[in-house]
Amino acid sequence: MTADLTIPKMIPNLISNSISDRFDLKVGVNGDRLNRRIEQLAKIGKQPSGCIKRLAFTSDDIQARYLVQQWMSEAGMTLRTDAAGNLIGSYAGTEADLPAFATGSHIDTVPSGGKYDGVLGVLAGIEVVQTLHEQNRRLKHPLEVIVFTDEESTMIGSQAMAGTALLNEPERYQPSPGDSIQDCLERIGGDWNALATARRDRTQIGAFIELHVEQGAVLETTGNQIGVVQGVVGIRRLLITITGKANHAGTTPMTLRQDALVAAAQVVLAVRNTARRMESQPVSTVGYLTVSPNSVNSIAEEVQLTVDMRDLSKDVLEEMTDRLQQDLHFIALDTDTAIETAPLLTVEPTPAAKPIQRTIASVCQQLNLSHCSLPSRAGHDSLEIGRVTNMGMIFVPSQAGISHSETEYTSPEDCVNGANVLLHTLLKLDGMQNS
Ligand SMILES: [Zn+2]
Repeated sequence: MTADLTIPKMIPNLISNSISDRFDLKVGVNGDRLNRRIEQLAKIGKQPSGCIKRLAFTSDDIQARYLVQQWMSEAGMTLRTDAAGNLIGSYAGTEADLPAFATGSHIDTVPSGGKYDGVLGVLAGIEVVQTLHEQNRRLKHPLEVIVFTDEESTMIGSQAMAGTALLNEPERYQPSPGDSIQDCLERIGGDWNALATARRDRTQIGAFIELHVEQGAVLETTGNQIGVVQGVVGIRRLLITITGKANHAGTTPMTLRQDALVAAAQVVLAVRNTARRMESQPVSTVGYLTVSPNSVNSIAEEVQLTVDMRDLSKDVLEEMTDRLQQDLHFIALDTDTAIETAPLLTVEPTPAAKPIQRTIASVCQQLNLSHCSLPSRAGHDSLEIGRVTNMGMIFVPSQAGISHSETEYTSPEDCVNGANVLLHTLLKLDGMQNS
């Protein structure tokens, strides 16, 4: 009898927990609706070639925003636009005073973009909220879906929200020639002069999770359905100027040459080797090069080239820069040229929060989705938002690793998998953070 009295007290808790766990895992987004909306949004800005051109602040961008606003309202969200033109849909939580959980991405594209870059993260976020709304369910935390302004060009939306925007230098943000950022923001309901008010911090946003297509081929080649992003890599970009001496290609003996292009060839290899020598597998690229006088019978006098180095670790980026500088010194001596470097761009890496990475991985396990960890080597709104709050990113495969093209493709199943991982990650974090 004693046992009978004790066990019933214990069992209800155990049962209700396991039932609610099982129930939760069965909850999934409406995949048909998600994929239908991806197709619908892809019609706005569609070019005869098949690519999508929906540049931020254009009439196509504004039309797409209207459509997304309708879907947000339908999903039970209240809407607002901040001073940076970020469109924010809010779905209230059940407990007062908790910071919001936020998700989202962008709906602007590059001049010849595809259907999924950015769009998937926004529409999956709306789908998550609509799924909760239809089940009459709320998280403890308020839930926000954010459409960031102009991710593809100025990143003004996420920078303003992270407080990293250069408020006194509007000229640094020029979405297109002849267009001022002030006018552009006004067009979408923002206000440059009030940009500081768009800033948020971790007391307002407790966690930000972005679902995005990988835009690379790691998931496809390793056969994984979901990528747990370790962070968004930082960038060191340099301009290297090599100065030699122009001379006749026929009459100048090999021993007397100061050939800037021969030096450049060595620099290109040094840049590649700098990355290859590091254990963490950073990447390093020379993608731009000009030769002067660039003439068939002249020895090159000047070569300018760019170096783009990316890694998750600031220390690795700094070590690569130092090693490259040493190599440049010896190349200059060897080729009798002068080599100068100037910084072009410095972006610090943003690591994803470890507890969020672990939660995404455990959700994948529960949903039986194969997954692996990987860095994001492309920039995202998460890069900025991760500077002010706990950030996590979920990747789904990009066919052949192609993106920023009309051939960008992620299968409908992968889109739905990503949205379900997003849903369950948010549910799990909601339970963890307040239990
Ligand atoms: Zn994107």
